[in-house]
Amino acid sequence: MKKIYILFFTILTLAIGGCATTTKDSVSGVKRSQFMLLPASTVDKMSAQSYTQTIQEAKKKNTLNADAEMLDRVKVISHRLIAQVGVFRPDATKWNWEVNVEKNDQLNAYCMPGGKIMVFSGLIEKLNATDDELAAVIGHEISHALREHGRERMSQAYVQQFGLQALASMIGGTAGSMAAQGAGLGSQLFFSLPNGREQEREADRMGLELAARAGYNPDAAVTLWQKMTAANKGAPPEFLSTHPASQNRIKDLQALAPKVKPLYEAAKAKQ
Ligand SMILES: [Zn+2]
Repeated sequence: MKKIYILFFTILTLAIGGCATTTKDSVSGVKRSQFMLLPASTVDKMSAQSYTQTIQEAKKKNTLNADAEMLDRVKVISHRLIAQVGVFRPDATKWNWEVNVEKNDQLNAYCMPGGKIMVFSGLIEKLNATDDELAAVIGHEISHALREHGRERMSQAYVQQFGLQALASMIGGTAGSMAAQGAGLGSQLFFSLPNGREQEREADRMGLELAARAGYNPDAAVTLWQKMTAANKGAPPEFLSTHPASQNRIKDLQALAPKVKPLYEAAKAKQ
C-alpha cells in the first residue's frame, strides 16, 4: 500500500512539474500547456550526441558544409533568427546553438532540441529559396526547439512504451543511467515521431513572428509552402511527409502575417 502512495505522489509531482508552457506568449499567441516528463537536460544530451554523430558521418562522406557560400548564407539567416529567441524564452539565448549545412538532395531541415540546426542543400537549391523563405523554414524549425516539441513527443512515447511506473522509477534513479538508456533512443524518437498537427501550427506561428522580428518578410512563409507543394510531384519530399502543406496551414499563415508585419517593418527600419 505504501508503495502505491509513493508511486502516486511521484507521478503527481512529475505531472505537475510536467504541465507547463515552455515559452512566453507573444503576438503569435502560442501558449498551450505542455505535458513534459523527461528532463530537458536528458533530452538535450541525447540530441547533442545524435547531432555530433550526424556531423561526423557527413564529414566522412565529404557532405558537411561543402559549399562555403551556402553555409555563410544559412549562418547569417540563422543567427539573425537566434538573436530574437529571447522574446520567447530568455534561457535559449544561452543555448549552445550550432548551424550546419549538409549536401543532400532531400528537401529537409531540422533543429534538434537545444538548438542544433541542420539545413539540407536540396531545400535551398530545389526550391530556389529566397533569404526570406529560408528564414521561414529555419524560423519554423527553431520554434519546434523553443517549444521543446521533441521533448514532448519523447515524453509521450516513453510513457506509452514503458508505462508511468517505469518512468517514475527511472527518474528516481541516477541521471547517468537514464542518459545511458536514452542515448540510442533519443535520435530514434526524434526522427521517427512526427510532430502533431498542433505542434506544427505552433511552429508555423512562432516561426513567422521570429522571422518578422529578425527583419524577414512574413509573406515568404506562404510562397515557401506553395513552392513546397509544387515540388511535391511523384514521391513526397522528406519535409512534406512530416509537414503536410494543407490549405488550412497556408490560410493560418496568411491570417497571422498582417499581425507580425509591424514587427518586420520595425526591424527593417533598424537595419
Ligand atoms: Zn515542423
